[in-house]
Amino acid sequence: MTFSYENQVLRPAILLLLGAEPDVIVHVAPVEHLTAAGARKRSAAELGKGCPDLLLSVRWRAQTVPGVGAQVHGAQWVCFELKAPPCPDLGDEGTICTRCLRSSRLCGCGARAQKVPRWSAGSVRREQRETHEAWERGGRWVTVVRTPADARLALHEARRRLRAAGLEPVAVEGRS
Ligand SMILES: [Zn+2]
Repeated sequence: MTFSYENQVLRPAILLLLGAEPDVIVHVAPVEHLTAAGARKRSAAELGKGCPDLLLSVRWRAQTVPGVGAQVHGAQWVCFELKAPPCPDLGDEGTICTRCLRSSRLCGCGARAQKVPRWSAGSVRREQRETHEAWERGGRWVTVVRTPADARLALHEARRRLRAAGLEPVAVEGRS
């Protein structure tokens, strides 16, 4: 199997980060299932060509009648297209941090290092860009994410936009 930075490095790191965000539910696209032989196979339940890789629903709560306390609960789609960033200088060790994905020499988080081959930066394909634009027009927010820091920033921005609209991000039931 050829090395895929998006699938083998970026996706696990982003999923790890999102797992700690109480107001987020993650839907992985495209939907995949395991075959009897253990291979990953794309499901027929597709969301269309150019669909972003991770679809997050960020939960919110709104006061409908100020002072009365009636509330409405909802969620906003916040979608991530995962793309490899340019490969940095990996040093002699050829390793990056599994949490922040920076070269191990520059990382201060103390997480496990992983050895990786050099990779090329990914670019957004035309059908992906068109789908992202259509989704944005439909009210689903789409961001190209190349690092865990990008993901964190996109989440902060999503919560800021929700609050600006009078919608308060809240934890999913059972999570805190
Ligand atoms: Zn790190």
